[in-house]
Amino acid sequence: MKKNDRILALRAAAEAMARGEPASNIPTGADEIGQLGKSLKKLSTYLKKQSERSQSLYRIMVECNLNLRLIDVLNHIYESFKDHLPYDRISLALIENGGNKLKLRWTRASYDELTLNTGASITMSDSSLQAMTDTNNLLIINELRTHLEKYSESGLTQAIFKEGIRSCLVCPLIATGKPIGFIIFSCRKKNTYKNSHKDLFLQIASQLAIIIEKTELYKGIKLNKQLMEQKRSLEQRVIHDALTGLFNRPAIFDILHKQILRARRGGFEIAVIMIDIDHFKTINDTCGHLTGDAVLCEIADRLTQSARSHEYIGRYGGEEFLAIVSPYDQEGALKAAERFRHAIACKEINANQTLIPVTISLGVAIGTDQETLDEHLLLQRADEALYLAKHNGRNRVEVSS
Ligand code: GH3
Ligand code: MG
Ligand code: MG
Repeated sequence: MKKNDRILALRAAAEAMARGEPASNIPTGADEIGQLGKSLKKLSTYLKKQSERSQSLYRIMVECNLNLRLIDVLNHIYESFKDHLPYDRISLALIENGGNKLKLRWTRASYDELTLNTGASITMSDSSLQAMTDTNNLLIINELRTHLEKYSESGLTQAIFKEGIRSCLVCPLIATGKPIGFIIFSCRKKNTYKNSHKDLFLQIASQLAIIIEKTELYKGIKLNKQLMEQKRSLEQRVIHDALTGLFNRPAIFDILHKQILRARRGGFEIAVIMIDIDHFKTINDTCGHLTGDAVLCEIADRLTQSARSHEYIGRYGGEEFLAIVSPYDQEGALKAAERFRHAIACKEINANQTLIPVTISLGVAIGTDQETLDEHLLLQRADEALYLAKHNGRNRVEVSS
């Protein structure tokens, strides 16, 4: 080809590219014109890839709007982006159970032996992805071994490492401002993912988040979350006393039953403390029933605040409470009872703008062995000790002999 013809061919190719058409017959060679031809060819290949990328993204967008099945879109992603992003495996994991669980909803790989397959579920707190839900940033892991050393508890990381995965590109999926899951591209080669992959990956992730939000699957999870919340609130109401918020009578009995079983198995002691407000009737009579209620609530709050984490307090009856402390010996039980007594007597209760001095009496019973670790016996003995505390002047602790 003559020099002039070659220049004309280059110009025609450049103009075709500018129109978004494929460029053909680009002359190449060793001289300056040939080198320019080579550069134009590279540019042509790059533009072709860019155009394919856009088309694939566009197809996902269309599929989103057509309300196609999520699974179809995921398969489409798996098949379409191979030339643009390296991966041996793609996984979609969704956050469930009010943020506690991460469930693998879809996965596809270029190899057969999957350790981590669709349906697998892990606890969110065991996952290295937990931290990502705070920042919503994309994460590149190029040395999975190092990542695993840092997050040795992560079940997901362990499983994909076993499969031979060495690099991952992870992006949180955001729907209505909240993370709902993750899309994970993984590769068996280490150091695979570069900053230049981020842009396309983010676009895929954002389209995917849109379709997930639309799908029944996500609606199901949301519904499930609402049901879980209702269940939690119902459970709260079932086991808590409506006025004071303490455990109610059946709940504290249930706790006592379980603690006794534990103590019997573990061979340790357990103490039951029966608590009764002193002269409560007088408070009701002089200040009114509503103020009496406010006093009950304040006493419940003070008891709760002075209780240690392994001490349980319930409303046993009208103005009577039951504390279960374990494991404890007699000295420990007395100390706990004294702590409760002091929490009430230390300062007057401000109930509906009235300052009322209030005290409580306490009866302690301790179960030490198979015979005394008995619900009825413990309650009876604590009651007897309480009676003694009342008899001996109130605002005091007595222990059953
Ligand atoms: P003691 O020191 O001997 O225990 O005297 P007390 O007055 O506390 O004992 P008594 O058993 O005579 O009275 C208990 C009172 O507690 C009677 C009852 O009306 C009142 N009470 C029980 N449950 C509630 C409640 O939920 N709210 C209010 N305001 N009062 C209650
Ligand atoms: Mg009473
Ligand atoms: Mg009383």
